[in-house]
Amino acid sequence: MKTDDDWMRIARDYAVQEKGSDPANTPIAAVLVLDGREIARGVNHTQECCDATAHAEIVTLRAGGKAFGEMRIEGATLYSTLQPCGMCTFASIWAGVSRIVYGAGRKDVHEMYFEDRHLSTLDFVADAYKDDLELVGGVLVNECAQLYFRPWDEVPEDDQAND
Ligand SMILES: [Zn+2]
Repeated sequence: MKTDDDWMRIARDYAVQEKGSDPANTPIAAVLVLDGREIARGVNHTQECCDATAHAEIVTLRAGGKAFGEMRIEGATLYSTLQPCGMCTFASIWAGVSRIVYGAGRKDVHEMYFEDRHLSTLDFVADAYKDDLELVGGVLVNECAQLYFRPWDEVPEDDQAND
């Protein structure tokens, strides 16, 4: 049985395999796991698909739903190399995901990766929205955070799109 660390390493390696390790390419990957088996995986394709919703988690949930044959994949765990944004967090709720496990959190990366100034969507979900969605952050945090611009990095304006 693979551990959270094992799955996160799979997600991280997949991000690098598909998008390289340059933060300018925003290598974010997600893996959807149910009963110890991988159902789907994906990387962000916002740029390539001209699609603002094509975050790694959304791409993965779409593929997972198709593979599973239903839109709700209850009991599944969604692994993501970076803390999911609000859109992906809520998509996970609609997909019936039971756990979200992420690598780098918002304090580990540049503020450009998050749409809000100070609200953590995950805290919001945990505190006010759902009590059957477990959130675990900081898994392989250093290995994941290395893929992104860090809080102290001077990021050129042109690279400041979270895609
Ligand atoms: Zn997202």
